Amino acid sequence: MVLDSLGRALSNALKKIARAGSVDEALVKEVVRDIQRALLQADVNVRLVLKLTKEIQRRALEEKPPAGISKKEHIIKIVYEELTKFLGTEAKPIEIKEKPTVLLTVGVQGSGKTTTVAKLARYFQKRGYKVGVVCSDTWRPGAYHQLKQLLDPYHIEVFGDPNEKDAVKLAKEGVEYFKTRDVDLIIVDTAGRHKEEKDLIEEMRMISEEIRPHEVILVIDGTIGQQAYNQALAFKEATPIGSIIVTKLDSSAKGGGALSAVAATGAPIKFIGVGEKIDDLEPFDPARFVSRLLGLGDIQGLLEKFKELEKEVEFTEEDIDRFLRGKFTLKDMYAQLEAMRKMGPLKQILRMIPGLGYSLPDELISVGEERLRKFKVIMDSMTEEELMNPEIINYSRIKRIARGSGTSIKDVKELLTQYNQMKKFFKSMNKRQLSRLARRFGM
Ligand code: GDP
Repeated sequence: MVLDSLGRALSNALKKIARAGSVDEALVKEVVRDIQRALLQADVNVRLVLKLTKEIQRRALEEKPPAGISKKEHIIKIVYEELTKFLGTEAKPIEIKEKPTVLLTVGVQGSGKTTTVAKLARYFQKRGYKVGVVCSDTWRPGAYHQLKQLLDPYHIEVFGDPNEKDAVKLAKEGVEYFKTRDVDLIIVDTAGRHKEEKDLIEEMRMISEEIRPHEVILVIDGTIGQQAYNQALAFKEATPIGSIIVTKLDSSAKGGGALSAVAATGAPIKFIGVGEKIDDLEPFDPARFVSRLLGLGDIQGLLEKFKELEKEVEFTEEDIDRFLRGKFTLKDMYAQLEAMRKMGPLKQILRMIPGLGYSLPDELISVGEERLRKFKVIMDSMTEEELMNPEIINYSRIKRIARGSGTSIKDVKELLTQYNQMKKFFKSMNKRQLSRLARRFGM
């Protein structure tokens, strides 16, 4: 998990509330102190910590919980809300609006920029875009080879010339080259040999003027903690189209500091790097991030959202049938995943149903848009027979499906695992539980 120790410390603080017999001022203050300690240990800026925790304390002591929500639940929700606000507001994905969309990446050497460029290229390739990568790092001849090594296995083309000394010229040629190659997205990598933000930003300006990118992305090393503030601020002031990727959040205790520092500048964090492998890149969504950080399974704070969802969701007879049937095909599963996605965070919803509660496996249902899209791509490469009768999918079929869909064997296996888990789960539900679930949605 990203930011393990911070997550643990914060959720321990919340558990104190959950376990307490009643909530009084002393308990609130104690929990606020625990939260402060946890954040400071993650290198979050002292002033930011104080501001955040003061607000949590104020709201926890002053606000009255709405009808139907206990004081405990209310406080947990306040902590969740304030932490989310602390990390930015909403998720802002990188959009591929025009063809080709040009992204320019900058970052100091060692920040993980080259790796991140490769991760981004792969991320968008997996979503069906044709991507070209331009290496305009004229300082480090190894950069071009590093990119090629990372991207050749995925047949993502890298444009570069280790002997060229003019970065601006290279960037321009690279973009022109890919414009003739019918790509959807061009990602331009730049040199990272900058001692200061000033030089970094100067190079970004020069290249930027030449290639007119749709978005400039600064890659920041998450291990530098709250020092990320200055880098992010200088960058944000220099470019109106700046977004940020914070890397190495898997390996740093200071990641909380880096994320909150960047968020404090108002620059949007769009992705986070969570490992050295090419797939270790995640879109950054403050609400989702905080949910995971806190282990939000046991937080009823989403009750309000739940209520909103309750109004929106309408199931057809057929959907209910699908829920009630113990035997699914992959096609059913896809339809179900879609229906559930409309409901919102299914796990939270199911956890609110007495008797179903906390026995749900964590990985059971995380039906993000991307995952669904990937599942669909994989299913498109399956035969009708395989879709209706997934049991026949053996290893050689898996290999064929992965090849055909441009995904990996791991991806196909992931889909099958999810299918098997869902099948088992719905089989294990009894009539009473299912009808409770149905009633929740006014069915
Ligand atoms: P650059 O000099 O900025 O281009 O940095 P590189 O891309 O060469 O990365 C520097 C080091 O950081 C390499 O060893 C990468 O494997 C590592 N790295 C990059 N991103 C991450 C990440 O998200 N997590 C971890 N643990 N390591 C990373």
